Amino acid sequence: MRDRIKQDILNMADSTAPVIEAANDALWEFAELALEENRSSAYLRGILEKNGFRILPGAEGVPTSFIAEYGAGSPVIGLIAEYDALPGMSQEKSPVCRPRQEGAPGHACGHCALGAAVLGAALVLKDCMARQELPGTIRFYGCPAEETVEGKVLMSRDHLFDSCDAALSWHPNDISYVWARKSVALTGMRYTFHGTSAHAGLDPWNGRSALDAVELMNVGANYLREHIQPSCRFHYTITDGGRAPNTVPDRAQVWYAMRGPSRQAVEEIRQRLGKIARGAALMTETDWEETYVSGCYDFMPNMAMAQLLLDKMREVGAPRWTPEDRTFARALFSQIPQRYLDETCSSFGLGEGDLTDGLVNGIYDGYYRGGSLGASTDLGDVSWQIPVGCFSYASTVVGSPGHSWFYTAACGAGLGARGAQAAAKVLALAGYELLTDSQLLRDVKEEHIKALSGARYNCPIQ
Ligand SMILES: [Zn+2]
Repeated sequence: MRDRIKQDILNMADSTAPVIEAANDALWEFAELALEENRSSAYLRGILEKNGFRILPGAEGVPTSFIAEYGAGSPVIGLIAEYDALPGMSQEKSPVCRPRQEGAPGHACGHCALGAAVLGAALVLKDCMARQELPGTIRFYGCPAEETVEGKVLMSRDHLFDSCDAALSWHPNDISYVWARKSVALTGMRYTFHGTSAHAGLDPWNGRSALDAVELMNVGANYLREHIQPSCRFHYTITDGGRAPNTVPDRAQVWYAMRGPSRQAVEEIRQRLGKIARGAALMTETDWEETYVSGCYDFMPNMAMAQLLLDKMREVGAPRWTPEDRTFARALFSQIPQRYLDETCSSFGLGEGDLTDGLVNGIYDGYYRGGSLGASTDLGDVSWQIPVGCFSYASTVVGSPGHSWFYTAACGAGLGARGAQAAAKVLALAGYELLTDSQLLRDVKEEHIKALSGARYNCPIQ
């Protein structure tokens, strides 16, 4: 019986493949920046509404976030979608680096494919629930602004994940694997210094330079680097350095991003940088203030979810690349920098036989645990509230650098759609299991409670 239903799900996913491809193409074309995803969110919302989903508001004051729900009662299974693009990453649907529109945004993180696959999975699961008359609720989370790590944080602030039992998501990548490792927590802070302006030639002794304070803060911070855990890092950019060299700047600002394996580790760095800012202000006789920019939690893997996803990925197998996809992939792959290819192959233990036309042939066997992911994601915030399962599916050629034109090109040209079609199947199959296997859901939730070991999620935005 279950086998027949699984086969039904796979068949429905095959008939939904054109919808997924069309959604990927539409979102790719819209290429909207964080919190500006008006057309992208309206597109997804429209299809879900037309298919019988109830549309509910997302985070307060964030019109590009929304929830679409189907069914009633428990369990409540979440499907998490993203759809924002990156600034300056415009690229033609061509295997040659050529912006479509200079300086315009582009889907260099593949969130067009991400949103499209989650849409496809929601439609398939809904049909399956209707046919089987299954109890329970599926909830499509329309999450904006992942790139600025705030969409899901804002939705968390408004407690939108509280009544959800477990959630699934995925991310396009060059390798197909299950997320079984942590990502890092992040905090972004701006430090603004206020000094006294003066003519830099006539009477500089009357000036107190806010830019000097920024520079001294950065010097102090660079000395701090030696004395923080190797798993932590921070980076900064000067966002205001004054207007002209002949005037002592009375205002200057630096923006820091701090990353670490836990929120506590990041908070420690924030406090130490605060002391450095205070010291810089003292040295320059300026005033300083700090303002919070953004922050997110580390991703907490759930191994019961990981096992479920790995099983489903093995059932689905590699994306079904078309001959056109392969031609495109060969041309794209020929431009991958050797260093990137070598690094990826060595981290995932890939040999020559594991790739064809620059595309991975299968699913990474086992759990990739290669250290902590250096990047951050606001999916981490969700994973501290409810169990979350996530995986990556190959949607570009191996070695594609993250946030690069390779992703924009691949996702616009069919590779992304093929990854999304495979991912939709895994999401739908896993979603079905969570909806119908109460023991599995209990195991997943028990593991989550154990992993928290009494810690509580404290939303970085209040
Ligand atoms: Zn991304």
